Amino acid sequence: MPLKTFDEYVALAEQAHGHICAGQILGLRMALYGMKLLDLRDPAGADRKRLVTFVEIDRCATDAIPVVTGCRLGKRALKFRDFGKVAATFCDLQADRAVRLVARESAKQQARELHPEIASRNSQQMAAYREMPDEALFETQWVRVRLAPEEFPGYKGERVVCAQCGEGINFKREVTIDGRTLCKACAGERYYEPL
Ligand SMILES: [Zn+2]
Ligand SMILES: [Zn+2]
Repeated sequence: MPLKTFDEYVALAEQAHGHICAGQILGLRMALYGMKLLDLRDPAGADRKRLVTFVEIDRCATDAIPVVTGCRLGKRALKFRDFGKVAATFCDLQADRAVRLVARESAKQQARELHPEIASRNSQQMAAYREMPDEALFETQWVRVRLAPEEFPGYKGERVVCAQCGEGINFKREVTIDGRTLCKACAGERYYEPL
């Protein structure tokens, strides 16, 4: 199952995301460039256990990335850090190296210059983002990502129970307050209010 053609990925992304858009094209290009830089030829197949991807925004581009990398949230291979940036970090666990790619601010302006004949901004960017060289679309940064064992896919850890709500907690997400083991919600990080 080596890398597919770009058009095959576009079709898969459209299916996964519900529509095709400039963000999808950008996300596909970003993931493919990441694979190229890491020299991973079969990310969704033979190399699937090597790869963890961090995404930094919950928008269109993010949905396209797993289409190429095969990294999914439910496999713990896709990590979301909400920085509001069109950026992703691709980590090769085996080679112990990682590359972070950020969409360049200049890409939109370049799309305008490349395809002034296309009126729709989305179509203009879709066309341009297919053609522009990787270096024009993305800024590349080699980085080190330090992950604790419990962050890796396949981690088998002890499951604990919250002393307050009784709900089970995995992957060391519990906190200890005044000697009590609590889930993050009971410790004050609750994003919902019980009715
Ligand atoms: Zn979209
Ligand atoms: Zn609790």
